[in-house]
Amino acid sequence: MTVRLALSVNGSRLNSSIAQLAQIGKLPGGGVSRVAFTKEDLLARKLVESWMREAGMTVRIDAAGNTIGRYPGLREGAALATGSHIDTVPTGGHFDGVLGVLAGIEVVRVLRENGLRLEHAIETIVFTDEESTVIGCKAMAGNTVNNPEYYRRSDGTSIQTCLAQIGGDWSKIAEAKRHPKEIAAFVELHVEQGGVLESTGDCIGVVKGIVGQYRLGVRVTGSPNHAGSTPMHARKDALVAASQMVLAVNKLAVETPGEQVATVGYLTVWPNATNTVPGKVEFKIDLRDLSETNLEQLLAKMKLEFQAIASATQTEIEITQLLHVQPTLAAPKIQNAIVEVCQELGFSYRHLISRAGHDAQEIGRFTDMGMIFVASRGGISHAEDEYTSPEQCTQGANALLQTFLKLDRLYAAKGDRFIELQGIIKM
Ligand SMILES: [Zn+2]
Repeated sequence: MTVRLALSVNGSRLNSSIAQLAQIGKLPGGGVSRVAFTKEDLLARKLVESWMREAGMTVRIDAAGNTIGRYPGLREGAALATGSHIDTVPTGGHFDGVLGVLAGIEVVRVLRENGLRLEHAIETIVFTDEESTVIGCKAMAGNTVNNPEYYRRSDGTSIQTCLAQIGGDWSKIAEAKRHPKEIAAFVELHVEQGGVLESTGDCIGVVKGIVGQYRLGVRVTGSPNHAGSTPMHARKDALVAASQMVLAVNKLAVETPGEQVATVGYLTVWPNATNTVPGKVEFKIDLRDLSETNLEQLLAKMKLEFQAIASATQTEIEITQLLHVQPTLAAPKIQNAIVEVCQELGFSYRHLISRAGHDAQEIGRFTDMGMIFVASRGGISHAEDEYTSPEQCTQGANALLQTFLKLDRLYAAKGDRFIELQGIIKM
């Protein structure tokens, strides 16, 4: 076994950190509630910051409130970065986000106790509010919305107040933007939040990319009329039209080759009365895929079909784009590095698509990005039952550690510094 492969994380230390963090915001049912900017979030941030310092990292908080721990490298310049989030949904679990942050700290602990520095500095980042505004990673990518009202919370608190509480500063949000010359590559370890790895029995998910998303609002206008006295041929039934459109969305997603998913999960009917022909329907479409071209083609086909349905049903349609998020592909170089690591460590692996958003989606817009998934029991997350075993968490963290060691050479400006590192290890 090479010296590099002899390095491994301390699984019990990693898992006890995960358990300790889960005490903050602990729910009676075993889950965690640690919504961003609450006192639980603040306490958790403080604890994680102290762990970063103990691991030998310098810590700074940027204008977006992101906590950035940095372990210096042998040379100045771009860092290799990892991290995730420690905020949760109101009723969340122990692992979503937390695993990525604490594995990032564990990687540094291992390097430090072995007297090692990599060529690159390592940054472990806690991104602000991943579960709601996603402001931390967006600010780092330079993609925040200028209007602070956009970020006002449902309890009325302003983003200025929220960021000030965690050491950020809304007025300087533009300064949180990072560049490829500061972060050469970013790798996020995360629980899968889906059931693919559990069903295939594979140990590691090598993420190909994070899907892009379109959300459309569709309004179908017909003519409300008496359900008894309006003959069938004289109706302009908005619900009949909308129903055909819902089926058309489903058919398109099922029959088009590819891995796209399309959902109509919201629909309202006016006047929604048993004895009235529906006069108006509004529904929303959620469309996701890794290929932006495929998404655009699907949308074009969908619109054509909707128009045909509208004219056949004598209704009118109005389509509004509510959301558009571009997909982010994982850098092939990083995917290959993760695959090689899995082969070396004897971990079974599978390439898969992330259908949920992650901090890596934004970071991947300005620098090379990769993601490592480990299984979620039953595919469950954002729930108290979320569970990934200590062994799986440890395997994920070891994959992250080894991927960093590999990327350190791949992204090195010159030469193979690892030869020298081996010398250091042997001391
Ligand atoms: Zn997450």
